[in-house]
Amino acid sequence: MNAFSYVTAQTPESAVQLVRTNGRFLAGGMDLLGEIKEGIAAPATLVNVKSLPGIAAIQASGQVWSVGANVTLTALAAHPEIVRSFPGLAEAAAEVGSPQIRNVATVGGNLAQHSRCWYYRHRDVKCRKKGGTTCLARGGENKYHSLFTGNMCISPCVSNLAVALASLDARIVVQRGAKSETLTIAQLYADAWRSPPAHNSLRADDLILRVELPVVAARRSTYLQLGEKADFDWALVSCAASASVNGTSLSQVRIVLGAVAPTPWQVDAANASLEGKPLTPALADAAADLLLREARPFSTNGYKVPLAKVLVRRALLKLVA
Ligand SMILES: Cc1cc2nc3c(=O)[nH]c(=O)nc-3n(C[C@H](O)[C@H](O)[C@H](O)COP(=O)(O)OP(=O)(O)OC[C@H]3O[C@@H](n4cnc5c(N)ncnc54)[C@H](O)[C@@H]3O)c2cc1C
Ligand code: SF4
Repeated sequence: MNAFSYVTAQTPESAVQLVRTNGRFLAGGMDLLGEIKEGIAAPATLVNVKSLPGIAAIQASGQVWSVGANVTLTALAAHPEIVRSFPGLAEAAAEVGSPQIRNVATVGGNLAQHSRCWYYRHRDVKCRKKGGTTCLARGGENKYHSLFTGNMCISPCVSNLAVALASLDARIVVQRGAKSETLTIAQLYADAWRSPPAHNSLRADDLILRVELPVVAARRSTYLQLGEKADFDWALVSCAASASVNGTSLSQVRIVLGAVAPTPWQVDAANASLEGKPLTPALADAAADLLLREARPFSTNGYKVPLAKVLVRRALLKLVA
C-alpha cells in the first residue's frame, strides 16, 4: 500500500478542491479501502467526506424526498417512512452485503462503487477497464458478467440502490465544481455503457450530495434479487419494479434489472406493454421477454436469462398482491 494523506473536508466545495490532487473521496471505505489494499487504487489523498454537513439525513418534503449521500444503508433500510413510501428502496438497501457492511456503507459510496469483475480486481491484470487491450472475461470466466453492453467491457453495475432508484425515477444531485448538477440514473451510468474504463459518468471531482425521490400517487415499489449466498455477496441478478396500482392494473410502470448490464437495465417497450392492463402472469412474462430480447449471453452467464425472467414475474405480481 502506498503512503497517502488523509484530510477531512468541512464543505462540499473544499472536498472537491482537495480531491483534485490525485485524491479520492472516502465515505464508509467498504469499496475504496479494498481497492487500495488490493493494489488497484493508489490515491495520494483520501478526502474524508463523512463530516460534511447536511448530507447524512433523510427528509420528506411535499413532492420530493431527499436522501443524503452519507446516509448509511442500515439507516435507509430501517427508516419507517422510506419503508412505507419507497419499499423497493428499503428492500434494495436491506439486501446489500451483511449488517456489518450496511452499518458503514453509504448511499453515495454504493452508487459510485467500482467494478467487481475478478479480472479488474486482480492487481496484475491490465484489462480494458484498466487501459489494456483485452477484456479477459469475454473469453474467460464470465459467470457474473453482463448480458447487455455497449462496449468491450462486460462488467455489470452491481449497485442495489442504482436498480431501485432507477425504478423510482430518482435524481442524483452532484457537486460539480462550484455548482450543483442533477443527473438521472441513466445519466449517472451512461459512460459505463459506452466506455470500457468508466464505472459511471462521475468525473473524479464530482461529489454526490443527495438522491431526490419524486412522490407519485398510488405508486408501489419492490426489489428482489437472487444470489449464490443469502448474505455477504452481490446479486447474480436483481429486479426492481414500481407502478401506480389500481386494483390489478398498473400504470407508469418501471421494471429495471440489475447485474446484467453496465447500467441498470430498462426497456421502454417492456414498461409500456403493461400500461393500463390487468396484470397476469402471462403479461408479466411477455414484459420480461421484451426486457431480455436483446440479451447476448457469454459462455457461462446464460443462466441469468431465466433468472431475470422469474424475478420480473415475481416483482410485478408482488406489486398487485
Ligand atoms: C462483501 C461485500 C458484499 C457486498 N454486497 C453488495 C451488494 O449485495 N449490493 C451492493 O449494492 N453492494 C454490495 N457491496 C458493496 C458496498 O455496498 C459498497 O462497497 C458500499 O456501499 C460503498 O459505500 P462506502 O460508503 O463504503 O463507499 P467508499 O468505499 O468510501 O467509496 C466507494 C467509492 O465511492 C466514491 N464515493 C464515496 N462517496 C462519494 C460521494 N459522496 N460522491 C462521489 N463519490 C463518492 C469513493 O471515492 C469510491 O470510489 C458489498 C461489499 C462487500 C465488501
Ligand atoms: S469485463 Fe471489464 S473489467 Fe472485466 S476483464 Fe473485461 S474489461 Fe476488464
